[in-house]
Amino acid sequence: MALDLKQIRSEFPILQRKLPNGKQLVYFDNAATSQKPRCVISAMSNYYEQYNSNAHRANHTLADEATTALETARENIAKFFGTSPSQLIYTSGATEAINLVAFSWARENLRRDDIVVLTEMEHHADIVPWQQLSKEIGIEVRYVPINTETYKLDMEAFSIAIQDSSLVCVVHTSNVLGVRNPIEEIIKLSHSAGAKVLLDCAQSAPHEKINFDGLGADFIAISAHKMAGPTGIGCLLVKKDIMIQMTPFMTGGSMIKTVTTEGSTFQDGHALFETGTPRIAEAIGWGAAVEWLNQFEMKEIHSHIHKIASWTSIEMKKIPGIMIYGDPERSDSSGAISFLHESIQSLDMALLLDEGGFAVRTGHHCAQPLMDALSVPSTNRASFWIYNTMDEAKLFIKHLKYIVERFA
Ligand code: PMP
Repeated sequence: MALDLKQIRSEFPILQRKLPNGKQLVYFDNAATSQKPRCVISAMSNYYEQYNSNAHRANHTLADEATTALETARENIAKFFGTSPSQLIYTSGATEAINLVAFSWARENLRRDDIVVLTEMEHHADIVPWQQLSKEIGIEVRYVPINTETYKLDMEAFSIAIQDSSLVCVVHTSNVLGVRNPIEEIIKLSHSAGAKVLLDCAQSAPHEKINFDGLGADFIAISAHKMAGPTGIGCLLVKKDIMIQMTPFMTGGSMIKTVTTEGSTFQDGHALFETGTPRIAEAIGWGAAVEWLNQFEMKEIHSHIHKIASWTSIEMKKIPGIMIYGDPERSDSSGAISFLHESIQSLDMALLLDEGGFAVRTGHHCAQPLMDALSVPSTNRASFWIYNTMDEAKLFIKHLKYIVERFA
């Protein structure tokens, strides 16, 4: 069933926005963050206006309501990702989720010379924590290269790299290339090599059903703000038997059972990793986002994005001097189109597109090792989501042609 774009767009107030130069906004920066439907914004303001209170702390009506809303959101979000609430640790986003694995699991369970395998297409959020841990305890970090013609992971190199490794960390779908990695095979191979698996699902969660229990990954990191939720919240999904191997990396209120001047005892489960006042409004907002997404099939969202991305990519390739990095026409691509023009600098391109009302991302996309592999310093990136239309894509191609004809 086709998405009702008129209805969907009407639920996102920001899409009506005109830029200061009078141009209608065309928002193609969804891989950086998605826009939020009115129901998410209202759920958060309703909390602040009607029952703002701290959760898990007091015995009064507002505190009960806040606690119930926080935990109901956890239940709904966990269900959306095919797992139980006890396996969901709220974090500030995918970055904190990956850092949590590094600090709470890896620092505790890995030793000098233990091997952590990454790929060249990881986001910095899934590189720097491992480099830091390497400095701290001497783990070895290995990188699986990509094939720069197909933009796929070199799976032969992958199979070699995972031998004797303890942890394999892979981005489910690249934020730069839109490439979806063969995560099912990656999980299977890594587990047979005796390694745990951490998937970075920041880019895949907005358009692909993530079934944590079904997939069998040990850890999954997700950000809410790329899937209609607010900024400031995300989660780490953790297998039950792995969570008990983790120790807290932040301590203080909420995560304790008892504290005396002699020492403290701690909570079990996700509470052990959620120190201090929780992200109450943000969890409520994410819960509302998930409820909103539940009215669609993720497959419908994916095929809608794919239709726009593949048409746009085909049309872009007809424009002289445009080079595309990745393969947006591939059926499992996320719809991100990274591109450059051979003679127009990426920053100039971004400004010229912005003048036409088009918001695209420009830069290294927090993936400098991937930029090095591609031998480029940066790219422009157009990325689409549920509310984008073919008409917007057509306007984009028209404006891109105008830029190239005028400035190349
Ligand atoms: N991984 C990937 C693939 C991403 O695209 C991003 C966000 N750009 C992150 C991790 C980090 O997410 P956040 O900034 O929301 O923590």
